[in-house]
Amino acid sequence: MNAEEISLKDKLRRHYHDRDRFKLKPSYSNYAGMTYFWFMNITVLMTSHFIVIPAILDASQVMQGIIIAWALFTEVTINWILASKKNASTVTQEISEKQPQPSNTSYNSFGWKKCIKCQMNSPPRANHCSLCGACILKRDLHCFVTGNCLGFHNQRYFIVMLFYIVVGLTYAGVLNVLYMNSIYPIGSEFVNYIPFITPWKVYQGEVNLLFVWLLFLFYCSICSVGVAGFFLLWEITVVYRGQTTGEAWKRIRFYKSPHILQHIRVVFGPYWILNFIIPLPTSLPGDGLHWEINPNLKVH
Ligand SMILES: [Zn+2]
Ligand SMILES: [Zn+2]
Repeated sequence: MNAEEISLKDKLRRHYHDRDRFKLKPSYSNYAGMTYFWFMNITVLMTSHFIVIPAILDASQVMQGIIIAWALFTEVTINWILASKKNASTVTQEISEKQPQPSNTSYNSFGWKKCIKCQMNSPPRANHCSLCGACILKRDLHCFVTGNCLGFHNQRYFIVMLFYIVVGLTYAGVLNVLYMNSIYPIGSEFVNYIPFITPWKVYQGEVNLLFVWLLFLFYCSICSVGVAGFFLLWEITVVYRGQTTGEAWKRIRFYKSPHILQHIRVVFGPYWILNFIIPLPTSLPGDGLHWEINPNLKVH
């Protein structure tokens, strides 16, 4: 009987997993996001280090400029590694079995639910991700750049990574513009900067390929800063409000604390500002399973 039960569970789990994987093709979207990320991360650094910074800055400032570029690259890369760690916030069988039982004197199973796709008990604030094929603790959103779901344990690295993507690409973009302006002044030769006209100018031999490369990176940087900036502002908003992305959409406010600092500490840990200087995987308050209910919540 027991063996039959387990096999039925496995069957259902496999069914939902295969069905979702077929429908959403997560691997392709993840690979596309990660490929674009690494393409930008490496080419922007190399172009800044070897071409733009030596050409734009004074000899005395070149080393300083290169150190800043590498420091920003390192921050983005380390936070990407930490955010993309597989199963960082996944609900495992062991976690699932921690659901309080009615026989327990301090029985409180508020927010626990059964995930039909995983065939496991899922703690409060955890949600299933069809792309990862698992339930994620305090799931915020699925990120294609890291190819991973962001939840209780890795959301902070994602936010810091976004911050440094915005800072790093803005730094590289400003230097790019200064360099391009020194080749073709924007004021007098603005036409060279218009994406649809540039290829024609190259064909006629009026624009060199280095300029095209810098212009291409510049436009990619603008798009990336726009997307990363949007997600950064969104993440700041949900962290400030003590919600996850899913909770914000559904207007769920059960778990909000009266103290804003508590919202920040839940995501970043007790030394939250340190995350923006050194990405240390310090422990977070709580276990991601048990959440206090908002004391000011008024139920109508
Ligand atoms: Zn699930
Ligand atoms: Zn996911």
